[in-house]
Amino acid sequence: MSIPSALVLFSGGQDSTVCLAKTLDRYDRVETVGFAYGQRHEVELETRLRLLADLRQSFPEWSGRLGADHVLALPTLGRISETSLTREVAIEIETGGLPNTFVPGRNLLFFTYAAALAYRRGITTLVGGMCETDYSGYPDCRNDTLQTLADALSLGMDRAFTIETPLMYVDKAGTWALAERIGGATLVDLIIEGTHTCYLGDRKHRHVWGYGCGTCPACDLRAKGWDTWQTVKRSAATY
Ligand code: ZN
Repeated sequence: MSIPSALVLFSGGQDSTVCLAKTLDRYDRVETVGFAYGQRHEVELETRLRLLADLRQSFPEWSGRLGADHVLALPTLGRISETSLTREVAIEIETGGLPNTFVPGRNLLFFTYAAALAYRRGITTLVGGMCETDYSGYPDCRNDTLQTLADALSLGMDRAFTIETPLMYVDKAGTWALAERIGGATLVDLIIEGTHTCYLGDRKHRHVWGYGCGTCPACDLRAKGWDTWQTVKRSAATY
């Protein structure tokens, strides 16, 4: 019987780090994949390596399960998507109602590349931190999109792939709470210090919830989630 294994889309952000922790808690062999597509927040590619080392050190029980890390270069994606994630322009909402941080088809491409890699690695479970609860409206983060993609990948590669998205219906406050449930204060501290969420790649400004510019949509979501989680914890403590 094969060892239960999974490939996690790991960007080095808060969501994918919590997903990775949850997967390490459940699977015996876990590999990770990241993508270099010319993102402005390229700092996340460096932070993810440090995070993997920190996870190994802080959680020895996970260290033996954490297998190979892969980084795939997708420079074409950066070239064909004129977005504020890949160009030096202000982040704003466009006429279609989507923020210009939207890279069309990004998650479809990521999962397709991940499946091609997983196929070679003998893995059929793909895990990603997409969420449609307090997201920015990106259509490729929706559960319908990703489950339909899992069907297409299974048909197209003649292998039964599943896509797991443990945060799909969890808001940002819930993501902090989940991190604490899985790995206690150690994991929460590791996320504060080590993960990168800010769209602008800001590592100069340190807040209670971690590093970032504090004003871009990603920082805003992360900060609000932290505040809500703290409020919930305080009110729970008074009962
Ligand atoms: Zn920011």
